[in-house]
Amino acid sequence: MAEALSTPAELDEELRLLRASVRAFVAREVAPHMEEWERAGEVPRSLHEKAGAAGLLGAGFPEEAGGGGGTLLHTMAVVEEIIQGGGSSGLCAALFTHGIAIPHILEAGNPDLTERFARPALAGRKIGALAVSEPDAGSDVARIRTRAVRDGGHYVVNGAKTFVTSGLRADFVTTAVRTGGEGHRGLSLLVVEKGTPGFTVGRRLEKMGWSCSDTAELAFADARVPAVNLVGVEGSGFRQVMRHFISERIVLATEAYATAQRCLDLAVRWARARQAFGTRLADKPVIRHKLAEMARQTDVAREYVRAVAGRHAAGEDVSREAAMAKNTAVYACQWVVHEAVQIHGGMGYMRESEVERHYRDARVLGIGGGTSEIMNEVIAERLGL
Ligand SMILES: Cc1cc2nc3c(=O)[nH]c(=O)nc-3n(C[C@H](O)[C@H](O)[C@H](O)COP(=O)(O)OP(=O)(O)OC[C@H]3O[C@@H](n4cnc5c(N)ncnc54)[C@H](O)[C@@H]3O)c2cc1C
Repeated sequence: MAEALSTPAELDEELRLLRASVRAFVAREVAPHMEEWERAGEVPRSLHEKAGAAGLLGAGFPEEAGGGGGTLLHTMAVVEEIIQGGGSSGLCAALFTHGIAIPHILEAGNPDLTERFARPALAGRKIGALAVSEPDAGSDVARIRTRAVRDGGHYVVNGAKTFVTSGLRADFVTTAVRTGGEGHRGLSLLVVEKGTPGFTVGRRLEKMGWSCSDTAELAFADARVPAVNLVGVEGSGFRQVMRHFISERIVLATEAYATAQRCLDLAVRWARARQAFGTRLADKPVIRHKLAEMARQTDVAREYVRAVAGRHAAGEDVSREAAMAKNTAVYACQWVVHEAVQIHGGMGYMRESEVERHYRDARVLGIGGGTSEIMNEVIAERLGL
């Protein structure tokens, strides 16, 4: 992603064209199937292939690895259009898991790993996942206990991971393991492939939302993983995970403000159509002001997140701002989805209402990729407290 940045006019045009093609893709390939995938608990592999061919998976990834070029702003444009077109943050989690599984591989610059994992993931031929969280180590990544011990040309891996997005379907899992001593310096990243003896996918986790996104537990019992699957150097795992949390947090923030925007639009549509006590809901001062406040919070979140993403694309260290962006967008989203359901009344509580799905999906945005409390810890640390 060290490509030269486009001029502002070129960037505007690139993003306009990208948005138009994503919009058409979502109307054709996503929106008509959302309910079916929500019930199935996952999205089909064919969606990855179609999205790869249409250039959705590669947006923001380097061309030399099979991506479409551009920066995080391109990835964000895709996410915005998917949610605005009737998709969801859950769909983004399921379809774009490569966005958290391959950045470490690309940054390490190992051509073998790029060809075996990153390129096929960007084409939608392979599904990748990222396994950091463990039953006893979530926010506190340095506590990871899954151990990888070098034995000749392999690492022997033992341990367990949990809450792994796309874990049931993944062909490869970028896995945080302990190759050294206690603490964050002992961690490394290792790519574990489906079919590796000793590596098993446990149960499918049932969730409050993100229903079309499969989430799994993974187990490693003397799993022998080729040592060539090490990402970067031994001991660099924690640094790699933390570094790529920045883009993950900006993407989650994007999902949050895009969800807020979609719910605002649905609520406005409902308020215009629904009659009560002789007038439209949209004529009632309480509802008008609620919608105005929903619009304000959504706009503020979007502008801030986009500004932070622009600085990230320009190469600035925005770890503090990414944490602020995530919390800003998540708080806005959670309030907006709540009010959108309220404005829909009883219908807002029904499974057939799109706002009901967003209400459930939004809850995880303040948990995954670092909780809101951890974002505040990141900010507090940068304040030198
Ligand atoms: C749907 C879903 C998908 C996920 N996908 C993935 C994935 O693909 N890969 C992956 O590795 N993980 C994934 N996760 C895991 C996610 O990253 C963790 O759930 C998250 O980091 C929190 O960790 P935890 O659940 O262990 O909570 P804990 O760390 O146990 O935290 C519990 C509570 O304590 C608070 N807390 C913890 N430490 C502090 C502190 N220092 N100060 C104040 N409060 C604190 C937290 O904010 C939280 O409210 C996923 C989770 C969900 C729910």
